[in-house]
Amino acid sequence: MSKLTCDVCNSDNIIKQDGIFICQNCGAKYSVADMQKKYKQISVNSEDENINKTKSQAQQKNKKSKSIWITLLWILIPVVVFIIGVNLFDSNKSGGVGSNSTPVVSSLSKNNNGNTSSQSTEEKIWVKKAYVDEFGDETSQTYLTCDILIGTFSNSATTNSSCCFKMLIDKSNIAIIILEYGYSIVKNPYSRGTEYGIQVKSEDGRIYKFYGTMNDDRIIIDDKDESSFLNVLKNNYSLKVYIEEYDTPSSSYNFTIKRGNLNEMLPSVNR
Ligand SMILES: [Zn+2]
Repeated sequence: MSKLTCDVCNSDNIIKQDGIFICQNCGAKYSVADMQKKYKQISVNSEDENINKTKSQAQQKNKKSKSIWITLLWILIPVVVFIIGVNLFDSNKSGGVGSNSTPVVSSLSKNNNGNTSSQSTEEKIWVKKAYVDEFGDETSQTYLTCDILIGTFSNSATTNSSCCFKMLIDKSNIAIIILEYGYSIVKNPYSRGTEYGIQVKSEDGRIYKFYGTMNDDRIIIDDKDESSFLNVLKNNYSLKVYIEEYDTPSSSYNFTIKRGNLNEMLPSVNR
């Protein structure tokens, strides 16, 4: 996995304030689009597996060798990011990503335009992927996955820190994966599942409440709620999502998800 770190100082203490992300260490500013770009540049897609995670031993083994690579990447990526950051900072002090000047402003305004429904073509944020079998071969079972969503999370130790989200949809389940700071995947530490409340605000301001359960490392929206959740998503250009642990609310998560090309893609996973 990758880290959402500051280009200038390599800190991961990046917090959302007044709609933009600000590095708490050096003050560098990033728009949501910037954060998304950062994530894409260094992203390693490792968690697009079965929504329900029925893994075979072969896959487990695969994971182990993968995790060695991931460990190596964790060591390498911050070094590379740091070198790039230092170069940017040195070569372009007035216009670099870290300065309070134009790049941030221009990408912010671009982002604002994108949020109005003036765009005629639906963004292709959903893609179809196939599950693989024990041999690593693609099966006929498919699921949809969306671009990484950038939002925030808060707990007793931090407020509005940057957070990545990913949503997976297959024939019978909808899952949400949460990566705090862009790299720390949220897992359920208990032997029983953890219940989450998922509130969704539509464009007309209506709030819908759903529930989900995390057994392993993703929230699966409860069976009774998943078709209505999908309907709300299908009928809104974008949705604001607020997730909170249900029993002991210690962590909360905010992000916005766009419908994009979802309606066009759903039939391909038998929805
Ligand atoms: Zn910084």
